[in-house]
Amino acid sequence: MKALLVTESRQGKLLPCSYETLAFAQQLQADPVMFLVGSEDSLPEFSGKLYLADAAVAGEYNPEEHLRLLEEVVARENPEMIIFVHSSYGWDLAPRLAYALDAGQVSEVVDCQDGALVVPACNAKLQRVVKVAGSVTVVTLQAGAFSLADEPEGSPQVERLTAQSDGKLSFVDYEEGEPGGVDLSKADIIVSAGRGIGKPENLAMVEELATALGGEYGASRPVVDAGWTEHNRQVGSTGQTVAPKLYVACGISGAIQHLAGMKKSDFVVAINTDRDAPIGELADVLVVADLKQFLPALTASLKD
Ligand SMILES: Cc1cc2nc3c(=O)[nH]c(=O)nc-3n(C[C@H](O)[C@H](O)[C@H](O)COP(=O)(O)OP(=O)(O)OC[C@H]3O[C@@H](n4cnc5c(N)ncnc54)[C@H](O)[C@@H]3O)c2cc1C
Repeated sequence: MKALLVTESRQGKLLPCSYETLAFAQQLQADPVMFLVGSEDSLPEFSGKLYLADAAVAGEYNPEEHLRLLEEVVARENPEMIIFVHSSYGWDLAPRLAYALDAGQVSEVVDCQDGALVVPACNAKLQRVVKVAGSVTVVTLQAGAFSLADEPEGSPQVERLTAQSDGKLSFVDYEEGEPGGVDLSKADIIVSAGRGIGKPENLAMVEELATALGGEYGASRPVVDAGWTEHNRQVGSTGQTVAPKLYVACGISGAIQHLAGMKKSDFVVAINTDRDAPIGELADVLVVADLKQFLPALTASLKD
């Protein structure tokens, strides 16, 4: 099967998530061809054909033009599968392409079993298994779900595409967020709060345990999205990647995107009321308890 891997660059640099498409293609034992709107300085390590369009002309993001370029590559390569990461780029562009090609689309794939695609459902408590029919399928991969077993290597054989800059939209620039805040990547001990804390007032319990242990506190995305703490404390594929000596996950289920940010921790303790929570598969110790009772008791015993 031929697979077209849609890689991404931002501010002139290849995004590492691009290699997740390659890892997925390897799992499918597909024959990969890559597509990138970027520059000669942002090429992936890859031994194969790569279609390159100049981001300086096309814009790092311009859905209309990127779609046109992709359609051109699809016409030349006839891939059976077109693979995006489920990033802001992929979730915008993939459905446009699927619609243009009259192809099936499967979003947020986390696994492939016997040729069927696996997609989480109901907050990852269930999995949907999807079989694709038709000659071409567009998929997006959940960030962090696939990783290469070995470091990527090789230089691509580059085929240049002629980009155009006219159209209804043009990319202007990125605006940097305010720098500052905590750098969790340097912390040896992190205690993180998940949605299981229930309400913002309970974040104090997590913070107090972190202080008692001499560490920092972090959070899963729902806690940040709810505005209970700032984004620079988010751990995961769209937050910080951390590798502390001790990671304490409080009321965190263990979604792939969270694990992507903390799975390199040396020792993981999870506190969860659900003994079957997926975090238990990664945790060295799973404490089945209500964090509202357990955290204050643990903090008090550390202070004694
Ligand atoms: C593109 C994309 C990027 C993402 N990036 C990130 C990311 O960077 N970081 C991230 O964290 N998520 C990210 N997510 C979201 C991710 O998919 C999950 O939705 C999220 O990680 C779930 O957070 P949670 O574990 O806190 O909440 P939930 O999944 O709701 O889990 C809450 C847990 O708390 C437990 N619980 C409930 N009450 C208690 C109690 N009283 N005591 C103890 N335990 C209790 C429950 O049993 C449950 O296991 C991303 C999603 C997408 C689609």
